[in-house]
Amino acid sequence: MFIGHYGPAFAAKPLARPVPLWLLFVAVQWLDVCWSVLVLPGIEKLRIVPGFTEGSALDLYYMPFTHGLAGALALSAVFGLLALFVRDRRAAAVAVVAGAVFSHWLLDLVVHVPDLPLIGDSLKVGFGLWRWLWISLPLELATLLAGALLYARRVPSKTRRGDLWLWLFVAAMAGLELYVAFAPPPATPPAQAQNALLVYALLALAAGLVDRARGTLRG
Ligand SMILES: [Zn+2]
Repeated sequence: MFIGHYGPAFAAKPLARPVPLWLLFVAVQWLDVCWSVLVLPGIEKLRIVPGFTEGSALDLYYMPFTHGLAGALALSAVFGLLALFVRDRRAAAVAVVAGAVFSHWLLDLVVHVPDLPLIGDSLKVGFGLWRWLWISLPLELATLLAGALLYARRVPSKTRRGDLWLWLFVAAMAGLELYVAFAPPPATPPAQAQNALLVYALLALAAGLVDRARGTLRG
């Protein structure tokens, strides 16, 4: 899953308003950020197989550290502790940020073919909705939209143009998802990892700017 991961990032903000939206954007992709960093030196491995599934050309045959259940839980706990730097309601913030990180694994579970290991590198699970693009693509967009609607309603903009920027951003994110769904896959695993890191950084930066434009950066 790609853009759908950001639905929980938006949805998490009303639960811990002092947490900036950009941090939640990094949180929901934290497993993939770590995955990209481990793919670059070849520690976690994938093959690029055009048509592997309709929704993804990535054969993710070895990623026990970032997408194994134990690894994902550990990365969620560690990243959640970052929220200790948030000023108030710290315990709630830690739980919400850790939950945002783990939402990545749950959403991956829905779309991935069985490549998420439960123990070590074995007992792999995945419901495989990526096999049908006409199901996985609307699901990603709906997840994004549902989260954005919750954020817009429960964390109202304090500025006049704030929501305009929000919905322009959400539209651009949906456009990016459509582009990635139909563009040719990256040539090599390192290229995939580099693209992912760049896109995740840019989206987090944009989320920070939107949160700021709405006057809701700190709640
Ligand atoms: Zn992932």
